[in-house]
Amino acid sequence: MYDVIVIGSGPGGYVAAIRCAQLGLKTAIVEKYPTLGGTCLNVGCIPSKALLDSSEHYHNAAHTFETHGIKLSNLKVDLKQMITRKDDVVKQNTDGINYLMKKNKIDVHQGVGSFVDKTTVKVTKDDGASSDIQGKNIIIATGSKPSSLPFIKLDKDRVITSTETLNLKEIPKHLVVIGGGVIGLELGSVYARLGAKVSVIEFMDSLIPTMDRTMGKELQKSLKKIGFEFFLKHKVTAVESKGKEVTVKAENGKGETIEVKGDYVLVSIGRKPYTDGLNAEAAGVKITDRGQVEVNDHLQTNVPNIYAIGDVVKGAMLAHKAEEEGVFVAETILGQKPHINYNLIPGVVYTWPEVAAVGYTEEQLKEKGIKYKTGKFPFMASGRARASMDTDGLVKVLADAETDEILGVHMIGPRTADMIAEAVVAMEYRASAEDISRMSHAHPTYTEAFKEACLAATDNRALHI
Ligand code: FAD
Repeated sequence: MYDVIVIGSGPGGYVAAIRCAQLGLKTAIVEKYPTLGGTCLNVGCIPSKALLDSSEHYHNAAHTFETHGIKLSNLKVDLKQMITRKDDVVKQNTDGINYLMKKNKIDVHQGVGSFVDKTTVKVTKDDGASSDIQGKNIIIATGSKPSSLPFIKLDKDRVITSTETLNLKEIPKHLVVIGGGVIGLELGSVYARLGAKVSVIEFMDSLIPTMDRTMGKELQKSLKKIGFEFFLKHKVTAVESKGKEVTVKAENGKGETIEVKGDYVLVSIGRKPYTDGLNAEAAGVKITDRGQVEVNDHLQTNVPNIYAIGDVVKGAMLAHKAEEEGVFVAETILGQKPHINYNLIPGVVYTWPEVAAVGYTEEQLKEKGIKYKTGKFPFMASGRARASMDTDGLVKVLADAETDEILGVHMIGPRTADMIAEAVVAMEYRASAEDISRMSHAHPTYTEAFKEACLAATDNRALHI
């Protein structure tokens, strides 16, 4: 009998297993795929960033090297090699999880995990062989899968999801992306940088619509420069595929229909929680109408010894949110009192410029009736950004009008994915904009833009604008 069985080995599941083992609990993890690491390591965060890095090198070589005084001839993309390197990066990471499981003495059971009852999990291998394991506590971490629309036939050849987009055999001439969210814009960027025309069709009136609206507007301007075109406020009504041609039809809200023809369509309209094959009913675990495992504030299901974390429960579908929840549940099982501040989970888009945010958006503050001050600093005024020719974007700080406490930070610019950590720390310690304004930031760094935006928010005191 295990103390804990974790079903699913993504960032939620494997981190939960490690923390359980660290706390002295006898732990097993069940994974249906041959490699550990879930969506994030195999077909999500890691491979997409590997291709984003490769394509960024190519794009810079083709477009900015000459200005830097570097001349190249015969510059070419070897997509096969790019994909091979991406696969190698994925393997290094998934092998790393195998090592961590061994190091922490966690038993790995390969196969589909399904509930027999509230303490028994059947593990069924690909060849049909199965065995039962038992656990006092069970953590469901089965993640998510790409969503689609009922009228779209995903043939996974020309009409594809993020998973296939990470393994294309050729650079699309014209990639049509349905959905202007994080995944569509990141993978669209990969191929735009490699020379594809990319058309994004988005239902809402802004890109990355859940983020502060300034970010979507700025990102749209930057992506246009690398060959993106956008159809906002357009509702996709049909996707047709004939030979090598795909046609996407969309309505523009005025009764008019547009047709965008390309050679590949990426359907990236979001992801849905995944519980297929789990047989949650056998344990009596409730699944919501939206397909999520229902949990309380302790991430406990309606069955007290069964917990659920990550993409399969409510909240942002992000790897680091899943990881926090993994640690939270392990510590809860041991009777500790952990805490997660969901408002301070940062969100990042790995386009170039990168977009990163934490806390409230301006729209949320308005909706809540909270009085706020705004401080902005453009990267155009940053010496570091001018040196690297990354002057697109800005940092926007929202602070409480009376107390000066930082309530939200929204950044679009170079390396903001890393810069946002400073804002998270500041907000965890409930810093005021003036606190940050009075801290020395190394010069020249991109992080000075955060300090300057805080100065601007404090009393319109930015020094370099
Ligand atoms: P998952 O990672 O989905 O893992 C679930 C695991 O459970 C899978 O391995 C699955 O095979 C297994 N499983 C399911 N059912 C069973 C069963 N019955 N028995 C056994 N095993 C089972 N997030 C970020 O934070 N940053 C990013 O940059 C980022 N980039 C992304 C890029 C792309 C292209 C995609 C698709 C996603 C990206 N994400 C990113 C989202 C991130 O991948 C997810 O939020 C994260 O993987 C969720 O972790 P999880 O542990 O909940 O589930």
